[in-house]
Amino acid sequence: MHGVFQCYVAEHPEMLVSPEAEEVFFNDEYPIFAAKHLMCAAAETGIPTNKIKHYFGTAAYEVAKLLLAQGHLNKGRNGLWAKGYPHKDVNFRGGLSQTTIKLVDAESGEELEEISEDIAHREVHPQAIYKRQDANGRMLTYQCISLDLNSKQAILKQTADSSLFTVAVTESETSSLTVLTDPVKLPLLFSEVSEVDDCQEYLTLSLSFGEVKHITSGYSLMTQIYEQTCLNKRCLNYKEPLPKEHRCPLCSKLTRKAVIVKTLSEEKFEQPFRTQFSAPMVKVAINSSAREFLQHNALETRTNLTRSGEPIPPGYQQLWEYSSTLIAIHSFGHQIMRALQLVARVDPKQVNFTVVKELGENNNYTGYFYDTSDGGNGAAEAVFKHLPKLAGAARAIARDCNCDTGCAKCLIQHGCLDGNTALLKQMGLLLLDAIASTGA
Ligand SMILES: [Zn+2]
Ligand SMILES: [Zn+2]
Ligand SMILES: [Zn+2]
Repeated sequence: MHGVFQCYVAEHPEMLVSPEAEEVFFNDEYPIFAAKHLMCAAAETGIPTNKIKHYFGTAAYEVAKLLLAQGHLNKGRNGLWAKGYPHKDVNFRGGLSQTTIKLVDAESGEELEEISEDIAHREVHPQAIYKRQDANGRMLTYQCISLDLNSKQAILKQTADSSLFTVAVTESETSSLTVLTDPVKLPLLFSEVSEVDDCQEYLTLSLSFGEVKHITSGYSLMTQIYEQTCLNKRCLNYKEPLPKEHRCPLCSKLTRKAVIVKTLSEEKFEQPFRTQFSAPMVKVAINSSAREFLQHNALETRTNLTRSGEPIPPGYQQLWEYSSTLIAIHSFGHQIMRALQLVARVDPKQVNFTVVKELGENNNYTGYFYDTSDGGNGAAEAVFKHLPKLAGAARAIARDCNCDTGCAKCLIQHGCLDGNTALLKQMGLLLLDAIASTGA
């Protein structure tokens, strides 16, 4: 998995933080790409020194100097040259990465779509239930028959039962190794009357080069039922099916109809699936005032829903189960990924998002966008550069979708490390609105 350039960057992080690289960074000539292209050309035909700027741009000149100083490029009579076959490590932006898996329909043999290997482990492992939309926007349910990592294919068979789903058991670790640039602070304008200057709530974006590790060791087969249940979180009957009970036999609170998830079986793979790669990532953190605002908002919504006496709408049940910051950041991350495709032409398989609980305070969560290809592909960089613009587009997508609390078109995301739990369209919209109104 680790190509020569990734090792290079890991061993020589100064390349990415030196003043020269800083300039390079905000250029399309992303240093890792520039390095890859330079190495390929040097190995293939050699590069006349006076043609570097002409062929590869000003930024590449600085990268070439660094590669030369580190001994990866050599200088000869006819210019720069390199040993070996660096081509195999090249993953051009927008091109096919070497680590994508094709999803093939078992019956028609048709290629349905292509996803990154990282996501394939969680979404199309053997027996996985995979849901996708057809050309007419209908949701179809498939079951995976086989995942072959050598031929890079997963064979899927359509099934009828759409209430079934699988959740992969995945351990993941996201660690930032090298900070690439100064963090950026964006004010969060939660209300129309707040001003940028005295805004107490803000979001911080930090761009770094880091490592992503995933181990998928098994999965649970689950189903969803809509049934009378107890929604008192402290009660042992919480979210247990209580058909025909008007009051909970344990805590005697009124029962309500709600979506209940039932686990049908839990399976373990003989051989866990592992991925590990180094890539640029953007950390998204919000300060304590912003977290307090979200918590207050969630409590208010809960109070209003309880007071109404109506059944709690399925999506809103999340507010009883998860921290408000977790729901807001997680939903926001999924919504931004939708906009990335539109605004920055980032292919959905090039990026993923995960939420991590910070030590200490209960309600403190941070999100990470990361490129899904080893060495990077520019996706996280695009989030870092264009967040307000992305938030504006994401807000429009979410608002224009005629679902109530989030659906497969605007919120649910393949490859979600958290099994698409702790998501609520309205909570994500709070953050999108607050960022988008800072102007983009
Ligand atoms: Zn109860
Ligand atoms: Zn929707
Ligand atoms: Zn997710």
